[in-house]
Amino acid sequence: MTRVLLATRNAKKLVELRRIVAAAGLNGIEILGLADVDEFPEAPETGATFAENALAKARDAAFATGLPAIADDSGITVDALNGMPGIFSARWAGKHGDDGANLRLLLAQTEDVPDERRGAAFVCAAALVTPAGAGAAALAPGDGVPGRIVVHGTWRGTLLRAPRGENGFGYDPIFAPEGGRRSSAELSAQEKDAASHRGLALRALVPHLRAAT
Ligand code: IMP
Repeated sequence: MTRVLLATRNAKKLVELRRIVAAAGLNGIEILGLADVDEFPEAPETGATFAENALAKARDAAFATGLPAIADDSGITVDALNGMPGIFSARWAGKHGDDGANLRLLLAQTEDVPDERRGAAFVCAAALVTPAGAGAAALAPGDGVPGRIVVHGTWRGTLLRAPRGENGFGYDPIFAPEGGRRSSAELSAQEKDAASHRGLALRALVPHLRAAT
């Protein structure tokens, strides 16, 4: 059994990755979370892109534990705001993780943006760093260090004008994915995983996981 660390404390992300790995027929891989390994210092997210943040989290986890490590970084990018909140999605209203305040601020900022310019996307970068890639410090995507992979998933849609739905988290109640009428907070967990930025990115990582383990 090869152990792979998903550098997260989010139980839902662990369940999702385990489901994806099982669906891909990757036997012999056990996915651990941060709660399953000895604690190590978690550096603040200082990267300029989703990819840099995901790579840094995965590299720190692989370096500290000696295990192949996966990490993700995600957010919402709004066309009318030139791609913001982007990497600042979790702290858009000033305090990390205040989903209600973040959502209200984004709605207020975009109040006068007409329907035809309300395009947005959820974006996720997922990184896999093996112990061979954990030593060197350079962390730009494509920095040429072996043992480091980063992939992206993008989920296009439009920004609603008022929250709808009870499922999900973060900006889900004000995001309507392309190809449907519901907000992503009105989708079931299975429907969301099948289409979402995170589902896409994690599934794109599977062949690399197969090669690395
Ligand atoms: P993290 O990468 O899981 O830390 O997510 C960063 C932030 O982006 C979250 O706090 C949310 O505000 C936002 N975000 C990322 N993915 C989603 C999603 O699937 N639904 C709603 N909000 C999301």
